[in-house]
Amino acid sequence: MKDYIVRATAANAQIRAFAIRSTHMVETARQHHNTSPVATAALGRLLSGVAMMGSMMKNPTDVLTVQVKGDGPIGGLTVTGDAGGRVKGYANNPMVLLPPKNGKLDVGGAVGNGFLQVIKDMGLKEPYAGQTVLQTGEIGDDLTFYFTNSEQVPSAVGLGVLLNKENTVKCAGGFIVQVMPFIETQVLEKLEANIASIQSVTGMLRNDETPEEMLGQVLDGLNMKIIDTMDTCFYCNCSKERVEKAIISIGKKEIQEMIDEQEPIEVNCHFCSTAYQYSVEDLRWIMDSLK
Ligand code: ZN
Repeated sequence: MKDYIVRATAANAQIRAFAIRSTHMVETARQHHNTSPVATAALGRLLSGVAMMGSMMKNPTDVLTVQVKGDGPIGGLTVTGDAGGRVKGYANNPMVLLPPKNGKLDVGGAVGNGFLQVIKDMGLKEPYAGQTVLQTGEIGDDLTFYFTNSEQVPSAVGLGVLLNKENTVKCAGGFIVQVMPFIETQVLEKLEANIASIQSVTGMLRNDETPEEMLGQVLDGLNMKIIDTMDTCFYCNCSKERVEKAIISIGKKEIQEMIDEQEPIEVNCHFCSTAYQYSVEDLRWIMDSLK
């Protein structure tokens, strides 16, 4: 079963909705970063949410970054997505281990208190930036609060990641539902009643529901129309040249020290952990380019 995003409208475009299956995406992230169970869930939820947010952008070159900056032991999350359903991301402390809370992975405890920041680069002079206070650190609640308060688009976000016994990803996915300013009261009431009565995203995932079936529950009785579907995946566009910028940021003095020590170095891409080797000759070349 492949990963994809579904885009839909309901009630004559008074509602727009997105749903995703992101099992392979989240499992790929887990393998790249060797994440602990709670980190897999936290990063997986944010990757799934950002993939759907990316699909809302208009131009193929638009890029969106969401940072979760909390005081919990995971030390923060960063995810970047594009308009084509591609995302990449990392947790600052991917190995964090926490006891479960109420029988569930304690994502909120791992994230802690802090802020959620959204930066959208849409090719304009100044990128758009919005920031809101984390509500629960469970990611879905925090994105709901962000949409409603920063973008002023009342929304409901549900995200879930289920793990197998050996801590690989069994399934991942979620939905985002947004209402337009002109929504009729009875439509809004029906939507709210649906959201109050549906099972959790994790429950839907456990039942192997497709993104279409998830939206079918959320938008039950609201004349849902599927607009299109889009592939989605974990994808990192790093290269030796791009990672070089991270070396340059270390500083000339430190690079010179590495050259003097005649030790080749290895640098990992933040977003996908791919290791790049730099020989002493490479380091000399980098130094020369700085002069
Ligand atoms: Zn990378």
